[in-house]
Amino acid sequence: MHSYSLIAPAKINLYLEILGDRYDGFHELVMILQSIELADKIHIKPSDAEDIRLHCNHPQVPKDKSNLAYRAAKLICDTFPDVYANYGGIDLTIEKNIPVAAGLAGGSTNAAAVLVGLNLMWQLGLTHPELQDLAAQLGSDIPFCLSGGTAIATGRGEKLDPIRNLNNLWVVLAKYNNLSVSTAWAYQTYRQQYSQSYLSDPEDIKLRRAEVHSSPLVKAIIEQNGVKIGKLLYNDLEKIVLTHHSQVAQVKIAFAELDVLGTMMSGSGPTVFALCESEQKAQQVKQQVEASISDPELSLWVTKLSSGGIQLADDH
Ligand code: ATP
Repeated sequence: MHSYSLIAPAKINLYLEILGDRYDGFHELVMILQSIELADKIHIKPSDAEDIRLHCNHPQVPKDKSNLAYRAAKLICDTFPDVYANYGGIDLTIEKNIPVAAGLAGGSTNAAAVLVGLNLMWQLGLTHPELQDLAAQLGSDIPFCLSGGTAIATGRGEKLDPIRNLNNLWVVLAKYNNLSVSTAWAYQTYRQQYSQSYLSDPEDIKLRRAEVHSSPLVKAIIEQNGVKIGKLLYNDLEKIVLTHHSQVAQVKIAFAELDVLGTMMSGSGPTVFALCESEQKAQQVKQQVEASISDPELSLWVTKLSSGGIQLADDH
């Protein structure tokens, strides 16, 4: 049996609108998700131990059964008990580069990589739609992490309509090391404050989804028009996170004062990103924000938009 190493890219949200409540306790969403080149690396190998072993170099990442990568491996074992009984243990190592609890789908992309890696290692022959079904059972962002690129995500985020891939733009990410935001808290707080404006009629929800599918932002993405895209970024959860965390608001203001195409918080935050037309511009923006905020707790990354989902690493 071979071992595999996979590249698991992070995502940002170019758009996040909360439409209403769902029967399952989640929110009905319409989002535009975008892969970025900032990625974790996942190593999967057979193990003599008969269970799933997980290693990770990041202190904030749980190493137990709650880890999404572990849960992905467990789902495969439970779905294919005979294969598991035959092949035995799995050794997973996560090389974490994506900031944790940052709104960048770090855990989700690790889980997607484990699904792809185990499908290869155990030669399960699962098709992409079959992997997508397993991904949707594990978490809302995981189907997108499998496919990557640029996509409209609806439902709780698991239903995907790919759009023409955007990969010609650069992004600067900014996150305070000492600040994490729980996704559950952000959505619950949003519900407490805004549920009176939720759509409840399924027809209204359908209509709003259709409007976003033909929105100026989607048209700008199809045209690959960075200037328009930058002006049309949107995230409902900013209303919650920016009000509760002034540091996040401060980063957004710092980006907005510079020559960027646009700036927005990703997902439930607290990472804020700025879109730039070139790597040179992105590096310049990074330096300017480092100089203007000058806080050792603020980390910044320059990365590129990416068209890929989970990929085999060059040294797999
Ligand atoms: P999303 O954008 O999907 O809401 P996120 O980027 O905000 O996710 P993650 O980095 O996935 O956040 O971490 C959220 C929580 O999930 C962390 O606090 C951590 O305890 C837990 N977690 C479980 N598995 C992982 C993993 N493989 N990598 C990172 N965090 C994980």
